[in-house]
Amino acid sequence: MVSVLALFRFEALTDSMHAIVDEQVSRVTLAEQVTMESQNAAIQLLRLLQTPERDQRIPLYAEMDRALAISDEALRTLTTDLPSAEMSQLIDLRRQYGEVFLTTVETIEIEGLEEARKHFEASTDQVLGALLRETALFAGNQQKSMHDDMGRQQKQVDEARIFIIFAGGGAVILATVLAVFLSKRVTSPLLKAVNIANAIAGGEYGRAIPNARIRELDDLLRALGIMRESIMQREVRIRRLAYTDPLTNLPNRTRFLEVLDELLSRSAGTLAIIDINRFSQFNNALGQAVGDQLLRHVANRLSAAVFKPNFIARLDSDEFAVLLVGEADPIEARQRVQSVLETLAEPIVVEGQKLDIDARAGIVLFPEDGTAVSVLLRKADLAANAAKLRHDSCALGREFSQPVQFEHLSLLGEMREALQLGQFIAFYQPKYSPKERRVVGVEALLRWDHPRRGLVRPDLFIPFAEQTGFIRDITPIVLGQAVADAVCWRAQGLNLVVSVNISALDLTSPRLIRVVCDALEKSSLAPEYLCLEITESALMAEPDVALNHLRQLAAIGVRLSIDDYGAGHASLSYVKDLPVDELKIDRSFVRDIHKEPKLRAIVWSTILLCRELGLDVVAEGVENAEESLWLEQHKCDVLQGYHVARPMRCHEVRDWVVGYSAKLSEVVH
Ligand code: C2E
Ligand code: CA
Ligand code: CA
Repeated sequence: MVSVLALFRFEALTDSMHAIVDEQVSRVTLAEQVTMESQNAAIQLLRLLQTPERDQRIPLYAEMDRALAISDEALRTLTTDLPSAEMSQLIDLRRQYGEVFLTTVETIEIEGLEEARKHFEASTDQVLGALLRETALFAGNQQKSMHDDMGRQQKQVDEARIFIIFAGGGAVILATVLAVFLSKRVTSPLLKAVNIANAIAGGEYGRAIPNARIRELDDLLRALGIMRESIMQREVRIRRLAYTDPLTNLPNRTRFLEVLDELLSRSAGTLAIIDINRFSQFNNALGQAVGDQLLRHVANRLSAAVFKPNFIARLDSDEFAVLLVGEADPIEARQRVQSVLETLAEPIVVEGQKLDIDARAGIVLFPEDGTAVSVLLRKADLAANAAKLRHDSCALGREFSQPVQFEHLSLLGEMREALQLGQFIAFYQPKYSPKERRVVGVEALLRWDHPRRGLVRPDLFIPFAEQTGFIRDITPIVLGQAVADAVCWRAQGLNLVVSVNISALDLTSPRLIRVVCDALEKSSLAPEYLCLEITESALMAEPDVALNHLRQLAAIGVRLSIDDYGAGHASLSYVKDLPVDELKIDRSFVRDIHKEPKLRAIVWSTILLCRELGLDVVAEGVENAEESLWLEQHKCDVLQGYHVARPMRCHEVRDWVVGYSAKLSEVVH
């Protein structure tokens, strides 16, 4: 618009300048024409005055008339164009000039050239001079006025230029302001939309979506809102699928690991891994559908006992995890976990059947027991397993999670070497029967004849051998050695049953039966002269497998003994169903038995019950005569302990037995 206006303005100015110039120029031209033609007429007159022949004067008259006619015509045009005082004076002068001119001409024709010349000089020349001066003045005035007009026009052009500069500048500023304003109206909602989109990408869905005044932008923002809503819903669905255990609807292992990891970074707490003992039995016996329902009930009961901010998840088929937020000492933690477990105390009814749940928990505290998810899980798993083995409802991870140390690793290497070099030696501790008044057997107790450390006691390496699985290599060696030694003693006339300790790993290993059969076959020892001592915890590790193997061993004819009875939680009602022949009362019940009435009550009732069940009772760790006497009086079948004899080497056994028997017969006599 500014350009168009400027153009118009310029065009108008140019036109008016042209008009002015044309007008002024034509006036000046006309004025000059008046002057020129007046002069021309005067020149012709002067020629007339010098031309005596009349014939020759005629063309000069014609020329004179033409000049005066043109001059008159120019004057007329000027007069009609510009009627003014100046013009009237000019006309008047022209008229005077015409008159004197005519008089001069008449004088030429009438009075002759001389007279005419006088008249010309006297008046015509003067009038002509005045006329010429006036026309020159007029032309000069016209030129001056033309210059003035031009100056005015130039001023107007300058003004127009300033106007255009200002108008153009103003238009640019206005356009800039307008552009900024418009772009703000467009960009600020767009920026907001970008921020919201970024927030959505970052998983933040709570930001308010603004309205925009521009319709298209408003539509865009609304579409963003709809998109966010559907992303949110989809995410919820995906999270549910990825993080939920479909059977119980509890959070799954993945979710649990995330929550634990997050919790570890900001809070102290307790992690309990809850394991359902013998769940596979329910599954096998009652079918998977019942097993599933059972798990659902368990999940419901556990969730009812675990409130936010605490957390519960199902990790594996029969494994649940509970996270209790907040600091707790081990006793508190145990109590809290136990109260969760108590919700499972009541039997669960599934399809009309009452099912008893036996759940165990492994407990770890963080950050004390570890700050890494994997470490805590491993420790809690170990503890849950330990709780199962010792028939406790809970166990704390810190008791079982001694990490394998470097020296232990080198120990494993050393043990392998020791096995090859025959550094593992069985010592034998006699078992004495007061009723029969004879030594009825010996227990093989392993020693490591270490080149630097001397005789190393089994407590220092057997637990590690069990932890690493190396015990599987040791047991066949001890077994072979013990059976071979038993054959030797028999050859020397000693009827001794040799007992060998079997660990949990051996008992659950499918190799055990073959190893036992091989050892017996190789030595051709009658199976009843071999006794296998099994601890309660070994039985509890995998009760089904253990029971199966016990049955097979019993079928072979080998004697079976429950070791360390009372140290764990096995009850006689449980033991009575096992195909065992002997029960060894743990050392802790035997020590000071003659002084402690409570211990006496326990041991005495155990002896009575075992007699009822047809089991031989062995008291181990009998250290003095008082203990020995009390046990003998209370019909304990077999005594074992330092009071009878310390463990000894194989070749010492015969002499010791002979000596001991001799001592016994001396006492009798
Ligand atoms: P255990 O089977 O309970 O063996 C009895 C332990 O009590 C032996 O310790 C024995 O020396 C000790 N003992 C015997 N009489 C007395 C007593 O009057 N007072 C006291 N305080 N202790 C007595 P040892 O030989 O150190 O064996 C420790 C444990 O190592 C055994 O406990 C057994 O669990 C394990 N063990 C030993 N040899 C073997 C083996 O060949 N295989 C396996 N798997 N474990 C073995
Ligand atoms: Ca034993
Ligand atoms: Ca024992």
